[in-house]
Order: sequence, then C-alpha cells, then structure tokens
Amino acid sequence: MDEKNRYRNTESMIAHGNPSFDAAKEAGLLGLSVRNTGRGSLSLPDGREFINMCSCSYLGLDSHPEVLQGAIHALEREKTMDMGVSRLRIRLALLDELEAELSRRWRGTAIVTTTASAASAGLLPLIASGHLLPEKKSPVLVFDKAAHFSMNLIKPICADETEVLTAPHNDLDFLEDVCRKHARVAYVADGFYSMGGAAIVKDLLSLQERYGLFLYFDDSHSLSVFGASGEGFVRTLVGKEINPRTVIIASLAKGFGTSGGVVLLGSKQHEDLVGRFAGPLGWSQSLNVPAVGASLASARLHGTPELATRQEALRANIRQFDERVPTRTSGEDFPIKVIEIGPEEAAVAGSRFMLERGFYSSAVFFPIVPRGRAGLRFMMRANVSREDIQRLCDAVADMKRRFT
Ligand SMILES: *Cc1c(COP(=O)(O)O)cnc(C)c1O
Repeated sequence: MDEKNRYRNTESMIAHGNPSFDAAKEAGLLGLSVRNTGRGSLSLPDGREFINMCSCSYLGLDSHPEVLQGAIHALEREKTMDMGVSRLRIRLALLDELEAELSRRWRGTAIVTTTASAASAGLLPLIASGHLLPEKKSPVLVFDKAAHFSMNLIKPICADETEVLTAPHNDLDFLEDVCRKHARVAYVADGFYSMGGAAIVKDLLSLQERYGLFLYFDDSHSLSVFGASGEGFVRTLVGKEINPRTVIIASLAKGFGTSGGVVLLGSKQHEDLVGRFAGPLGWSQSLNVPAVGASLASARLHGTPELATRQEALRANIRQFDERVPTRTSGEDFPIKVIEIGPEEAAVAGSRFMLERGFYSSAVFFPIVPRGRAGLRFMMRANVSREDIQRLCDAVADMKRRFT
C-alpha cells in the first residue's frame, strides 16, 4: 500500500487549484489593497469604492465603537502588546476576565486561543489519543468530509495516534455503523458549513446518547449570529450544560467581530491538560492585548439588547436577498449564500462583473468546492443598508443573465 498522501495530496491540490487562482488574480480579484473608508465601503488605490460582501463579520461588530474603544483602553492600561510568555505560566488578569465573561455567558469553560485553527491543532490530537474522553482511551476518529480545512489539516497527526476515517457529509448511517463496530468513536464536524448547511446536531446527540459518541464541533460561522447570548447554533442545541463528551470551538474573528478563537469545554473536561499539552495553545503567543480588550467589549455587548437588534438586522438582510436570489440555503437564515455557476472561468468573470458593479464576492473553485462546480459566494451582514442589498440583488440578476 502507498504510505504517502493518505490524508492530503498537496501536489494534486496545487495542480488543480492553481490555474483558477491565477485567473482570479489576473482578473484583479485577489490581493486587493484597500483602505477602509469608515462609511461601510472599501476604497482602491485609484479611488474606486466597493462594498465587501465577503466579510465574515456578520454582525458588523468589528467596527462597533465600543469594540474599538475596548482595544484602545486595554493597550493604554496594560502598556504592552503581548507579554511573550506562555499563558500557562503568566497571563494578564484581563485574559482571565475575558474567559470568565465568556464562560458565564455561554455556560461552559471557555478557553481563549489565538485562532480557531490553533484550537483545532491543539485539541484534535488530544481527542485522537483519548485524553479528552471520559474513558481516557483512544477512539476511532471520524471526520465529516466537508469539515473545514483547519481540522482536515490535522488528520495525519491524529492518524499517528488512532484510526482516522472520513465520513460522507452528514451521513448518519455511516456514523451509526462505525458506532456499532467500535467501542469508542469521536466525530469532527462544523456546526455551520462555510458552503452552506448545518450539522445534523439532534441526530448526532441521539447517537451520543445511545453509543457515547464524542462530538467535536467547530461552530465558527454561527457564533454570535445564533442564540440569545450569541452562543452559536450548536451551543443552543447541546443542552443546559455542555457534557463531557462534547467540545465546541469557534473563531472570534467572524460574527463576534474581534480576533482569536474560543474553546468551550464541559465542566468535567480537563482544562489543565488542554493548557499543558494542546500544542499552540500553550506556546509563547496568546491573544494580544488589544484583541483581549476588544473581545471583552464584544462579550459585554453580547449581554445587551444590541445583540438581538443586530441579529435581527442580519436576518432581515438575509431574507431580502433570499427573496430575490434563490440559493441552496434560501430560507435558512444563514448568512452565507453560494450561487453555483459551474465552469471556473465563468465564476471568475462573474465575480469581476460584480466588482465593477461595486460589490466584492468571492469566486469559489477547487479546492474550496469540487471541480466544475465553481461559483460566487456572498456573505450577508447586519451593517449593510436595505438599499445596498437591493442594488446587490439587481447586480446579481444581471450577472446571472450574462454568466449562467
Ligand atoms: C473561518 C473558520 C476557521 C478559521 O478561523 P481562525 O480563527 O481564523 O483560525 C476555522 N473553522 C471554520 C469552520 C471557519 O469557518
């Protein structure tokens, strides 16, 4: 058996993906160097302005005055960017304050990381080795085929600890079959997938109840967007307390509006083990001081009526878009919309057309989506006006007439 490329094939990924990236670059769709106008648009060096419809800051909290002030205050008070020491040894009380605030708000043990990707790189090997399971024994580790790249990247490391399988997307029968055959199984999935659609959380919880299935969710796309406290789609469904067989992680750089990542553990999970052995989580860089200050401000906003107001504004924009532009996620109150175009060249041309009309969309193609199924991805946001969404829909209609 060929021992190479069992979990990743860089050669093939580059060979098939690079021509589309080159075409997108050629069309002026990559590496745009911009300034933020502060009025909801970005400006190019030649003065042209456009609206970024590819921002994951779904609630617009990244530019909230209190979030910006939070960053400034934290810097002024602490007078350091980052202390350059592992948080395991010394950390600012401000970081503890942030974690206490998030733990309380989202009902779990919150550990703040530099990114969601670092959280997965640190945690998945500890799940593969069984150390985060109540039994402290290695499970068969099953990744959903559509799981985010930041988790798939860690597969080979996990495979050095245990058997690793890839399940077809949201395939409950596949997973139940693995559960019947093995004493311990852990499943790795997104809460909300970046190309649309959600994890089948209720079905997964039923497998957890029957077979003790361990669940690892990356719910980056739905944090802040879902839930009365912005706890995210998965957290709203897993019960009052997070049980010791469930871990949720998420990026703070999307709906939450700052930067960093967060891990939410159940109370009986071993927080110390995570601090000591989860690789990048315990290395010398922890979340920098302005990001901690901004996050604390955002966390507090999550406890005010402003959260619901922004969630509602986002939903209104999503519904307005859905009414005019049918996509696979129409009607799902989900901010990511993908218009499938097909050929890679047409998707690049369509995205260029949209930019000329004043809206940046991302052309998505292999390896982001399967070959021959390229498209345009749009992200809805709370802080885009009704009129701008209307103009966006007009431009999309014209784009579709020309390129599909
Ligand atoms: C955006 C995203 C990430 C990356 O988040 P970082 O905090 O930048 O590492 C990871 N997982 C999912 C599902 C994402 O959507």
